[in-house]
Amino acid sequence: MDCTEFQSLIAAYIDEELSVQDLLRAASHLNGCAGCEADYRQMLQLRDAVRANATSHVAPRHLRARIQNDLKRAGKSDGSMTLTAGWPWRWIRLGAALACATVFSVVLGLQVMAPASVPGLEEELVASHYRSLLVDHLTDVASSDQHTVKPWFTGKLDFSPPVLDLTSEGFALAGGRLDYIGRRPVAALAYRHRQHVINLFVWPEGGTSSGKSGTVQGFQMVHWTQSGMHYWLVSDLNREELEGFKSLLSKDIDRATPKG
Ligand SMILES: [Zn+2]
Repeated sequence: MDCTEFQSLIAAYIDEELSVQDLLRAASHLNGCAGCEADYRQMLQLRDAVRANATSHVAPRHLRARIQNDLKRAGKSDGSMTLTAGWPWRWIRLGAALACATVFSVVLGLQVMAPASVPGLEEELVASHYRSLLVDHLTDVASSDQHTVKPWFTGKLDFSPPVLDLTSEGFALAGGRLDYIGRRPVAALAYRHRQHVINLFVWPEGGTSSGKSGTVQGFQMVHWTQSGMHYWLVSDLNREELEGFKSLLSKDIDRATPKG
């Protein structure tokens, strides 16, 4: 990827809208290009400043209904608006060069038109997996040693996730990080299998609704509960191998869990 291509993808890169392949190409360009890196940082700062300081209001239900009605009448919508909640970078870039009021109105406009539904648990997990593939986002503690990774979580979570190394089975532990899924802090453990990254999310049962295994946005997801914990695997690895990894983990979790 060259600078021109990266610049054309920078907004989609920040919004995490690229395919995994483009994401990795963009990340590798960013790693080696100081110029693009500076542009990237600047846009992140701008986004954070708008998030932190722009005034925004959630539209009341009746206003949303009225706008949807008007759009429907104008024949511009079938009533099922599917605007993404992402940041309109092209607009914000322009807006930054103009008056702040322009930015505010774009932000306000987005709030008015954003869909009311919150993303499901599966989408949150996929988004976290996706973020982890960005440069330097895979782990907070990078280690293949479970005796380094496990204590790292102590004091950061109100539970102790089992941390298992399955290097001998072809699944190398890359490290761990904290994440926030389903309105609670969770443990995320990263594994590598050939060129694939696998994220294992762990949190205690209860409170957060469970979900189903399946395919979401092209990623395979495997969910199970065991010894009082929810486990989610997310990866672009094929279904069979991911299920195989689940069986290995499941056996080791059984072995690692003290029997009362
Ligand atoms: Zn560049």
